[in-house]
Amino acid sequence: MTNADTHPKSRRDAEARDGADPLRAFKDHFDLPEGVIYLDGNSLGPPPKAALARLRRTAEEEWRRGLITSWNEAGWIDLPKTCGAKIARIIGADADDVIVCDSTSANIFKLAAALLAKKPGALAYEAGEFPTDGYIFQGLAAFAGAPITRLDPQAGAAGLHPEISVLIKSAVCYKSAAVADIAAWERAAAQTGVSIIWDLSHAAGLIDLDLQSTGAQYAVGCGYKFLNGGPGAPAFIYVARDMAQNLRQPLAGWMGHAAPFEFADAYAPAPGAQRFACGTPPILSLSALDAALDLFETVDMAVVEEKARTLGDLFLTRAAAMGLGSISPQPGARRGGHVSLRFEHGYAAVQAMIARGVIGDFRAPDLMRFGFSPLILHYADVWDAADVLENILATQEWKKPEYSVRKTVT
Ligand SMILES: *Cc1c(COP(=O)(O)O)cnc(C)c1O
Repeated sequence: MTNADTHPKSRRDAEARDGADPLRAFKDHFDLPEGVIYLDGNSLGPPPKAALARLRRTAEEEWRRGLITSWNEAGWIDLPKTCGAKIARIIGADADDVIVCDSTSANIFKLAAALLAKKPGALAYEAGEFPTDGYIFQGLAAFAGAPITRLDPQAGAAGLHPEISVLIKSAVCYKSAAVADIAAWERAAAQTGVSIIWDLSHAAGLIDLDLQSTGAQYAVGCGYKFLNGGPGAPAFIYVARDMAQNLRQPLAGWMGHAAPFEFADAYAPAPGAQRFACGTPPILSLSALDAALDLFETVDMAVVEEKARTLGDLFLTRAAAMGLGSISPQPGARRGGHVSLRFEHGYAAVQAMIARGVIGDFRAPDLMRFGFSPLILHYADVWDAADVLENILATQEWKKPEYSVRKTVT
């Protein structure tokens, strides 16, 4: 996958590519507003039609009519596991080794605390890592009295050393979309006795992951990004079966108990990943996620990753012709589902694009981030989005004062 020259070179080219694209029809499974090209990066996946229908059913029938019987009759109590099994397929794990619960932030805490208790040492994260990952590690370090180490990302896996207990590391960098070599990191981790928690937030549902064969033992990730589970959808946690037996997580709630409905006084952890569950699962959110995950049932993740890269190649090549630099892997290189372009007035330019129906996002200080979710985008959409960006730069439309007013969520 190093051929930089495989992306469409004209709109006609893009249309031809769409005609031959095995993922083309997936767009019809999503409910996107007319006239919008959704290039969010991908902080919130758009709604699958099936997820919206499922939400209505869960609210109207299961909750309204079934009331508390729905925990059994509608299978609510099993949703963390059934969703976990569907995610397991997407990330290359065993069905039993993934459980859906809580947020990614909370899952990082639970997993890191359990690993730290097993092997005391430093908690490590790389400079420039997604903020919550670093914050949670800092908080846990202060709470547990453990040292904290911030690694230089340039050093890569060579930065690992035996004093480190746990490293949190994104599989796809949220800023650049650089993809980590999981197998290489795991080899270095095995030599130094470090446990790596892979943060798959920008990787799950996008990259062709095979956690088992790459030796990854611990992972967390979001349900609302490329998995399209809806705003605030619960996150997941993966623990390789052999490892879970030795881990005690600190938020030992009843949903992680071996037999929650025996109401025993003493805590006994459930087998496997289930022990990382804590309290009552959010059924409305889980229902939407469960329906959204079904879209992946027939999807070949290698095809998804390849299309994301080609869409990104197209956009990067167009952006380079506009004089815009990028911090993302260059055309032809392995990359996650987004590209980040440098532009001093990036915030205003993204706002101007949104006003024209092309939704991207902005990451401080100067990055315009555009996501290319292969299930919802056609090549022609990405070509058209590049036209809009080109026009906004050429006309300096971004200079309109309303585009510089900062909103809370960027
Ligand atoms: C989106 C994202 C998160 C978000 O965590 P929440 O607890 O869902 O807010 C965490 N880590 C990474 C790498 C992310 O991209």
